[in-house]
Amino acid sequence: MYAARENLSTLIVEKSAVGGQAGVTERFDNYPGFPEGIGGAELAARFAQQASRYGVEMLQAVSVEGFIREEMDGAYSGLSVTLSTGATVRANALLLATGSTYRRTGAAGEEDLIGAGIHFCATCDGPFYKGAENIVVLGGGNSGLEEGLFLTQFAQRVTVIERSGQLLGSKLLQEKVQNHPQMAVVLNQSVQRFVANEQGKLASVETIDLRTDMPSSFPASGAFVFIGLDPNTQWLNGAVELDGRNFVATDQMFQTSVEGVFAAGDVRAGSTKQLASAVGEGAAAAIQIRYFLDRRFG
Ligand SMILES: Cc1cc2nc3c(=O)[nH]c(=O)nc-3n(C[C@H](O)[C@H](O)[C@H](O)COP(=O)(O)OP(=O)(O)OC[C@H]3O[C@@H](n4cnc5c(N)ncnc54)[C@H](O)[C@@H]3O)c2cc1C
Repeated sequence: MYAARENLSTLIVEKSAVGGQAGVTERFDNYPGFPEGIGGAELAARFAQQASRYGVEMLQAVSVEGFIREEMDGAYSGLSVTLSTGATVRANALLLATGSTYRRTGAAGEEDLIGAGIHFCATCDGPFYKGAENIVVLGGGNSGLEEGLFLTQFAQRVTVIERSGQLLGSKLLQEKVQNHPQMAVVLNQSVQRFVANEQGKLASVETIDLRTDMPSSFPASGAFVFIGLDPNTQWLNGAVELDGRNFVATDQMFQTSVEGVFAAGDVRAGSTKQLASAVGEGAAAAIQIRYFLDRRFG
């Protein structure tokens, strides 16, 4: 929308459906402008409607598979972008906003209970559990421990369930968790099943002990999964510089290591994985693209 309003001819290429993770999130309670909250699908539809109003063209169910930087007389002249349809699109600039994917446990019941007790973001969904008796955090790395500590302000008891024989987060975080009166840690547990109650909401998490095969059941109204986040950057095949976790590195102007290629949102190194910030980064990057095009092409 920002690019189109800057009079740039703008094409969105979307592998799945426009709206990304927002479109498949049940509800947003922290997106500005909606004091009562808004359903993710409705918000995504509104985004698409508003972009269409400014003439943004949208290709859905089409992936971007790569790009080539083009030069004329030794200077940057644009990009040639390859699509999964086999078509090639010429562009003067490219904004990478391919997001990232939260890893899932793959345990039975998980798919059905996402948004009904299973969550991937404590900042987003933790407040729903104010006053809850038990919640569990799956994953004992830095994210799991940090988010687990954060969740103690809502739930009476937070249990961290870790697959390996030790917590993996920093020593400082481990100490904080181990000394916290509301937190417990269980190790060597592999999640087998998420069990729903009669209302179709999460009731408990079943595990087995990887050393003894002993089953356990943890009653929980919420389970927060922090077993990793993979940026959707595989398709780039090293075409731009990534950080140590494979997120796209940018400068303060949102430009990547390749001239004319920008990045914003969850795929960008240092992004906060929040919708409001992803939208803000997209707007800021579009304005930087405008400056870049003015400098390069006049
Ligand atoms: C379950 C859940 C709940 C959440 N709740 C909240 C919340 O309450 N509040 C909040 O602020 N944030 C929340 N978030 C996070 C928020 O949704 C993200 O921060 C935001 O959607 C990131 O936007 P994005 O555009 O950077 O990436 P995404 O939304 O991930 O969009 C990236 C898009 O790129 C597409 N894509 C990937 N690769 C390609 C390719 N090669 N070619 C073409 N298209 C491609 C994908 O299909 C996807 O549609 C939640 C996330 C999840 C998963």
